[in-house]
Amino acid sequence: MLKVKNITFAYKKTEVLKNISFEVGSGEHFAIIGESGSGKSTLLKLLYGTYDLNDGHMFWKDKEILGPKHNLIIGPEYMKFVAQEFDLMPFITVGENIGAFLSNFYPNEKQERIDELLEVVELTAYKHILVKDLSGGQKQRVALARSVAKQPEILLLDEPFSHIDNFKKQSLRRRLFRYLKENKITCIVATHDRDDVLSFSDTMMVLHDAEIIASGTPQELYNNPKNKLVAAFFGEFNVLDSKELVYAHQLKRVENSNLKALVKHSYFKGHCYLIEVNLDGELVFFEHDKMLKAGLEISLSIMK
Ligand code: ADP
Ligand code: MG
Repeated sequence: MLKVKNITFAYKKTEVLKNISFEVGSGEHFAIIGESGSGKSTLLKLLYGTYDLNDGHMFWKDKEILGPKHNLIIGPEYMKFVAQEFDLMPFITVGENIGAFLSNFYPNEKQERIDELLEVVELTAYKHILVKDLSGGQKQRVALARSVAKQPEILLLDEPFSHIDNFKKQSLRRRLFRYLKENKITCIVATHDRDDVLSFSDTMMVLHDAEIIASGTPQELYNNPKNKLVAAFFGEFNVLDSKELVYAHQLKRVENSNLKALVKHSYFKGHCYLIEVNLDGELVFFEHDKMLKAGLEISLSIMK
């Protein structure tokens, strides 16, 4: 179990994280979300022991995680961190990078392990290519494979699929998170992509203004988003009557209702159209299976 108790941290004067507490069970997947600059990367760096805390404590299985004041080498043995700026060795091959931290004592086992991980990140064909000749997304996949090579107990991932294109992202995400679950690796992921969270995180928290503004399971936060920032993370939403948060897919066009709206624009979204309407002077969005012409008067109803 990872236990974070009342931690506070500032690079300079302003506190970037204030009184943060949470727990993550062994083998569980935990997501940290929040806007850019909300302190996600800082929190991962603190968990890795990169900086000394101003206040509070962190424990992994009753061992305290300590900063550089107490450690010569940053990063505990049992932990791996894939930072936003992944540093690979450019002049050796993909396979050699993935195996960089593995012992040469059992060369056959080492190669088998490298091959297994190449499959997880779908880079088998690139084993003998120099890392310097890879694209940004391919490098990110090498960094992910290398991070699990030595079976860490905890893996910290900072926006792990940010450089990977949409063609590859979905399958890679499923493979990697499945691999971590099967190998009971505890995973803390900082992300602004809801697809990293919805299907793969056991619990999550939302950072804003240095504090936790929401936490729970993805289902709990999705079904009861309490504030705009949480709703915005999950998708297109509206604030009705200046209080009720309603996702675009929860508004439907009906024959007649007292929610009258004027169509402004239809955006093609693939599986539906996102229709922008004017409702009592407010811009509101809802999902519809057909395009609607600008100027059309319609009635809407909330279906939760
Ligand atoms: P996120 O990952 O959520 O985008 P960060 O943790 O990178 O947020 O940054 C949180 C805040 O800390 C930001 O205001 C950022 O400018 C500041 N910050 C990040 N790294 C440093 C640093 N090395 N020195 C000073 N301030 C920093
Ligand atoms: Mg960041």
